[in-house]
Formats: sequence, C-alpha cells, structure tokens
Amino acid sequence: MKRFAWILLCLCFLLMVAGGARSACGQASGPQAGQFGPSTGKAQSPPPPATYSLTQERRAKAIAYSRSLYILYFVGTLVSIGINLFLLLGGIAARFRDWARRASQRHFVQCLIFVPLFLAAATLLSLPLEFYSGYVLEHRFGLSTQGLVAWFGDWGISLGIGVALGVFVVWIFYWVVRRSPRRWWFYFWLTSIPLVLGYILIEPYVIDPLYYRFTPLEQTQPALVGRIEGMMNHAGIKVPPERIFEMNASSRTKAVDAYVTGLGASKRVVVWDTTLKTMGPDELLLILGHETGHYVLHHIPKEFALDEGVALLIFFLGFIAANRLLGTVGPRGGVEGASDIASLPLMLVVLTLMVFFSAPLVNAISRHYEHQADQFGLEVAYGVVPNPNAAEVESLQILGNEDLADPDPNPFIQFWLYTHPPLEDRIRFAASYHPWAEGKPLELLPSRQ
Ligand SMILES: [Zn+2]
Repeated sequence: MKRFAWILLCLCFLLMVAGGARSACGQASGPQAGQFGPSTGKAQSPPPPATYSLTQERRAKAIAYSRSLYILYFVGTLVSIGINLFLLLGGIAARFRDWARRASQRHFVQCLIFVPLFLAAATLLSLPLEFYSGYVLEHRFGLSTQGLVAWFGDWGISLGIGVALGVFVVWIFYWVVRRSPRRWWFYFWLTSIPLVLGYILIEPYVIDPLYYRFTPLEQTQPALVGRIEGMMNHAGIKVPPERIFEMNASSRTKAVDAYVTGLGASKRVVVWDTTLKTMGPDELLLILGHETGHYVLHHIPKEFALDEGVALLIFFLGFIAANRLLGTVGPRGGVEGASDIASLPLMLVVLTLMVFFSAPLVNAISRHYEHQADQFGLEVAYGVVPNPNAAEVESLQILGNEDLADPDPNPFIQFWLYTHPPLEDRIRFAASYHPWAEGKPLELLPSRQ
C-alpha cells in the first residue's frame, strides 16, 4: 500500500478514500508451492495444516515488525495532532494566512499561497516519523528494496500531489463554509461524493503510474491469464483480461500483495510482480480468485457507499467539535472563525480524531468484504484447481511469511486496525470451507449449482 495517509488527512474528505478506493489484499507466493500435490476424484491429498506456521526466527521477526507498525499507527495519530496544534497555537497558520491576504483579495489566490506553505511545514515536521516508518523500519526488517534517493523521490511526488489536490479541496471547503456557516458539514459532505468518486476513477490513470509501472498481465503471463479466463468462464463470470495488470512492486519492496482499484472504466485487478515471482500457479489462481471476487461483488462501490455514511456522521460531529474549539482554542492561534483559512489545522485535528475513532467501524466493514472475497476465491477455484483448500492455505501461508504478518494479534488490535481477518482465521477458513464436499450449495456462485 502506498502511503496516502498524510495526503488524505490534508485533503480532509479524501481520508474516506483510504478505506474505500481499493481493497488491498495480501495474498501471495510461495517457496513451498507444490507441497500439496494435485488430487483427483474423491481421493483427496492429505488435509493441509489449518494453522499459520512460521519458523522460530521468522515468527519473532513478524511479531516485532507488527508491534512496531501498531505503535507507529497510534504514535502517528498523536504526532499528526501535535503538529497541527503547533501550527495553530504557534500562530504559524495565521501568519501564512496574513501573507496570503496581503498578496490578494481573491480566495483562490490565497489558497494558492496558503496551502503549499502549510503543507510544506506540516510535511517537514512529520518527515522524521515518515522516514522512520517508511524507510528505516522497512529496511531493518528486510522488506524494502528502495534506495534513499528513490524514497525521497516518492516523498516529493506525494508532497506534489498533496499540494495540487490540497489547493483545490481547501478552496472548495472554505467556499462552502462561507456560503453556509451552519450547514457546511452537510454541503461539504455532499460535495465530497463527486470529488471522491472522481478521485477513485482517475487514480489508476493519474496517481498510481507516478509511482509504479503497470503492464497488462496478458503480456507477461499469457498462460496464467489463459487459466484465469478458464476459471472465470467455468464460473460464468466475465472479467476482461485487459483489466488484469502486473505492477512492478519489486522496485520498492519484497512484500507480496494484490488489489483491486478504480471504478467504472478504470476498475481493475492489480497483482504485484513479487507475488507472481514467489507463487506456484495454483496459489496464484487462488489470489486472483480473491481479487476478482472484490471486482465481481462490486466491493469498491459498496465500501465507498458505507464509508460515505460514516463520513456524514464524522462531518456532523466534527462540525460540533470544531465550533466548540473555534470558540476556545481558535482565538489563541489568531483564528477569526470557521471561514478563516487559518482554522485549517484546527479542522484537521478534529478530523484526525474523528477518523481515528471511526477506524473500528470502517475496518469491520472491510474485514467483512475480505472474508467474502476469500470465500469467493475458493468457490470460483473449485473445479479448476485440483485442491482449492490446499492452494489457498498455501498462498496465505506464503503471504504471511513474506510480509511478516502477525501470527498472534491481540483482540483490541484486530478490532481497531485490522482491514482483513487475522491470517490464522483466514487459513482456518481456507482449510475448512468445502461445501462441494458436503453437498451444500455455493453461496456466492449460485449459478454453478
Ligand atoms: Zn482482498
């Protein structure tokens, strides 16, 4: 996953995109691919181990890495709030606003000056933590393949995207606040719908290629695409092969993954090249079965709709909280009111808190869809892959091993942070879900009955 978080924070409403724009999955390749040989007829190969197992050394590493990520999530939220409070109470945002006002009376021109200054300050202040989490930690655990210059190149690109989108969104936000001081939370929420939809639509064309190269999988793995098409035809489903892409993730990481993204014409399945390199063909088919599940079951628009529902609540509660804070803290930072652009850090503090506390709800929705995609993958692979259960267990096992997935996340962390069910649960399900062996109907592919 790319590090969108801070950009999205700065863009207020786009935070919803982080949950809704893509379903990143994490499945992948495997050195032990082929351990479970093809089986025929009723004589199944030995049941795969229904547990996530790592070597002692790998397990210790996975636990240490996961804990660092959890701590960074909570610390990152606090740091973000701290930086915005500093920019507010230190009078820095007010100073940027004064410079912008001196330059022009026009609000858009003021945004053109204020937003880049503000984002540059916030980004520089958060650079140490960004660098630690994005570069130091990834190298320490042997996951990153990216050099220092390339990392800073990506960091610069992210800042550029943040500024370009930020000017536009901040200008719209304050226009709405000026027009409707009492109902801006609702009108801005309404405005956010086409904006976020537009973002999801153009992201695969405009944003993603700034970081990675995408090649139609047909060009690099024609045999695999042929098998995918066969699998889809078998299930009576159409996923055009030109919608399946390979991404050169190996330019930055050793981790394995795949995801679906985009909407309408830009809707697509993306598989990391690291995944393709480390997996056997049956495991890859299970991964693609999972991803096409997101595609066929329309998970992106569904998650978008649910996330927008959460966003409406966030904006309303945020409106109440922001008004309170504007009356108490605002004057200390030289903020003249809600429509004053210098209130941006205060608005971002409120938004950060709202998004933080809504994470369990948004992630629970995501976990539900990820489980559905797992189920879909098994159902669609049945009859195509000799032993879908074994292949799915193997692909998840490899994913956990390569990505250092936590073997034993505590229940609070799962509740708060997990966008997917824990790997142990996914593997147990992968090994035990075989309605075809029990004479039961398939739930997500009823047409095959
Ligand atoms: Zn998924």
